[in-house]
Amino acid sequence: MPTAPDPDLRLRGRLLRGLGRLREMLPGSFVERQRACGRANCRCADGKNLHTQYQISVLVDGQPKTFNVPTTLVQQVRDNIELRKRFEAAAASICNINLRRFLKQKEKP
Ligand SMILES: [Zn+2]
Repeated sequence: MPTAPDPDLRLRGRLLRGLGRLREMLPGSFVERQRACGRANCRCADGKNLHTQYQISVLVDGQPKTFNVPTTLVQQVRDNIELRKRFEAAAASICNINLRRFLKQKEKP
């Protein structure tokens, strides 16, 4: 009978195999804001019927930037930013597993 597989290694393998599905991940956070466009005769001029604007807010070379997201891409961009959070969670889990393994390895003579 084969020895029971190390649960840490099984989890690490599963996390690594799942990373390919996260390839479309995007940085930053998704921002939804209300704004007036400034045209005097627009519906937003009353300050209530504002326009919804979607943006990615992200650091580029350490500088905060925002990029407008067209309405047609809102869902895709939201999803892809979510992918990055899953990537970061997976990376953190893999690092924890590897740290545990390093500390165990270090104890052995
Ligand atoms: Zn307007």
